Amino acid sequence: MFTRNDTRKIKIGNIYIGNGERIKIQSMCNKKTTDTKSVVSQILELEKAGVDLIRVSVPDEMSAKNIENIKKVINIPLVADIHFDYKLAIMCCDRGIDKIRINPGNIGDSDKIKQVAEACKKKNIPIRIGINGGSLSKKILEKYDGKVTADGLFLSAVENVEALEKNNFFDILVSIKSSNVNMAVSAYEMFAEKYDYPLHIGITEAGTERSGIIKSAVGLGILLDKGIGDTMRVSLTANPVEEVRVAKKILESVGLYDNGIEVISCPTCARTDIDVIKIANEVEDMVSQIKTTKKIKIAVMGCAVNGPGEAKDSDIGVAGGRGEGLIFSKGKTLKKVRENEIVKELMLELEKLI
Ligand code: SF4
Repeated sequence: MFTRNDTRKIKIGNIYIGNGERIKIQSMCNKKTTDTKSVVSQILELEKAGVDLIRVSVPDEMSAKNIENIKKVINIPLVADIHFDYKLAIMCCDRGIDKIRINPGNIGDSDKIKQVAEACKKKNIPIRIGINGGSLSKKILEKYDGKVTADGLFLSAVENVEALEKNNFFDILVSIKSSNVNMAVSAYEMFAEKYDYPLHIGITEAGTERSGIIKSAVGLGILLDKGIGDTMRVSLTANPVEEVRVAKKILESVGLYDNGIEVISCPTCARTDIDVIKIANEVEDMVSQIKTTKKIKIAVMGCAVNGPGEAKDSDIGVAGGRGEGLIFSKGKTLKKVRENEIVKELMLELEKLI
């Protein structure tokens, strides 16, 4: 259920990461950081979905200045994503940011890195070094014939960590992302062997919901199985809320997350006379916002022929009929309701159990 306990523990705002802590779920806003209303409303929606910390892009001064307005309204740690301009990182530190994500390699010379490290140190703000294929230095690329490799990613992470350590800065998290699953896994493995800094894991540019979910599930699943990963993001070309839902599902699948409620649903077949796909999705959406310490299983089954029998161990469920559904509990029928009442009835039954 928790992260490996031989990493450093890092405090980000009001949460801890690494060294036996629960693996935290991250996502990133896709609204303009200057648009307080939109960005805050998206963050609050992500909070409701279960995100633990959230990153915003800070491409200019206006965005950096708005950090304090965003911070006033949200309840989770805020991370600033900075590229190229070290002054923006320092501005964010002065405006209450909880973590900075930079790639020291593109921040510039050692004096600029020193200034960022000092500003962060003064306020106990951790820095995440974000390495990916696009951030490798010319020198590293040349070393590997111009190609992005796992060794090159690892070497870049080492160089960037050393750049901060030289400034006596150790409040570090690292991510080494690639859109190639095998490459990302190898690079993370090499880093985890050598360092005890907590790792933020992810498969970058994983793609749209369809391909991105599969790639992320495979990549993150392998890493988590090896005990690697203290925070994670599922990068999708989709609504960030989806990233959080998928991350929770991945953690659930490998036994590392449990909101107490499991939804199972049948694959549908010619016996199906209700819209099982729609109902199952609606039920899953509703329960994703509920957390309970109890263990509850909900079944959405297409028909009564196999439904209640196959889902006998479910605490509540529905088996479809022609435009209607039998609400059942532990295989026993409770009532018959119209198709458009199924989700509401399941939620009412769920409330009784919680
Ligand atoms: S539960 Fe019924 S509808 Fe669903 S797959 Fe099984 S037989 Fe088909």
